[in-house]
Amino acid sequence: MSETDTPPSSKVIRNDPWYGSYAARAEAMRASEIRALFAVASRPEVVSLAGGMPYLEYMPFKELSELIAKMMVEKGDVAWQYGSAQGDPHLREDVLQIMELEGITDAQPDDVVITNGSQNALDLITRIMCDPGDVVLSEAPNYVGALGAFQSFQVEVVNVMLDENGLIPESLEQTIVEQRKLGKKVKFLYTVPNFHNPAGVTLSVERRPRVLEIARKYHVLIVEDNPYGLLGFDGQTYPAMRSMDNQNVVYLSSFSKIIAPGMRIAWMVAPPGIRQKLVLANEASVLCPPNMSQFTIATYLDNFDWKKQINDYRGMYKKRCDTMDAALHEYLPYCSWNKPKGGFYIWLKIPEGLDSRAMLPRAVTAKVAYVAGTGFYNNGEGRDHMRLSFCYPTPDRIHEGIRRLASVIDAERET
Ligand code: PMP
Repeated sequence: MSETDTPPSSKVIRNDPWYGSYAARAEAMRASEIRALFAVASRPEVVSLAGGMPYLEYMPFKELSELIAKMMVEKGDVAWQYGSAQGDPHLREDVLQIMELEGITDAQPDDVVITNGSQNALDLITRIMCDPGDVVLSEAPNYVGALGAFQSFQVEVVNVMLDENGLIPESLEQTIVEQRKLGKKVKFLYTVPNFHNPAGVTLSVERRPRVLEIARKYHVLIVEDNPYGLLGFDGQTYPAMRSMDNQNVVYLSSFSKIIAPGMRIAWMVAPPGIRQKLVLANEASVLCPPNMSQFTIATYLDNFDWKKQINDYRGMYKKRCDTMDAALHEYLPYCSWNKPKGGFYIWLKIPEGLDSRAMLPRAVTAKVAYVAGTGFYNNGEGRDHMRLSFCYPTPDRIHEGIRRLASVIDAERET
């Protein structure tokens, strides 16, 4: 193992007396490159194009805090109490209206499980479906948090190809067939169909039924992870695969990108057998999602025009995406990227021969941060890409960040 492959956790703890005692699954855990960057990228002089933090300034915090205070007086004894492992029934009812926007009209509150963020959902679904050595198919570049969850269960993550129209159905079928030939158990396909993190692409509406057909043909579950679906810049939403099939899809969504990640509240919808196992797994893992956060989110949904709020966010993110796209055309015309139609990210391809990971310290010296493409693969690929987030910095900062980035890439090309 080379120095760069050494897990940061074992770099930090020297002479750990428990070295050698850890479970094999703990050995498989890796710190994400994004979290490792967090401290550097948060310095005020650095323009961070690295994190995927939503911009929360438009939230009606003052009015909300008054309503939360009222809620606490009225039902503080329940809000501060243990709750159901499946989640608060009222919130499970509330999320149905959100899913209707993406065509999911047949779900009932009993089909829903509330989780501590979708990260918890990814952990639970892997926990109930996978034994060590089982295969999970995942679009590459991969969502980093999903890779972390899968790897911690010693699952083999096998990449399926994406293009500008999202997951390629032929690549999915071919990969399933190949893995079966190798004697592998393919447990599920993990996909982020809308405004992919990090690739920015959206699975075309035409491909969705085809992906479902393949999943059904080979009896492979689809885990449809959809935290960005309502953040399409033109207001368009796409039919969820769960809206076309209620037996072969576990659907995940989250309040993190549309309301507040600090609440740590997300939800999943699953067919009955899987849902029952998920609730048991949730009970074993966290007992129950926090009532306080669930009630806070429900208070917000019940009292504010959340659709308008999401619309305002869409407009803001669109402007930031346009600014980044224009700055890339101005300063880095020799790079390539697909302009996303929603979400938070641009996946930038840098010129042949450059290495986004090696370049990062020089970018930080130039006071700009991004996430190197290697963080989104489990096999060392991705040096020719970087993920640029436009969600958090203001348009001025985005423009300045791309200018700084270009000075670094220009210098690299000359050496
Ligand atoms: N899935 C994807 C694709 C994401 O980008 C994120 C957040 N970065 C999550 C899941 C996790 O979100 P949370 O745990 O905050 O709900």
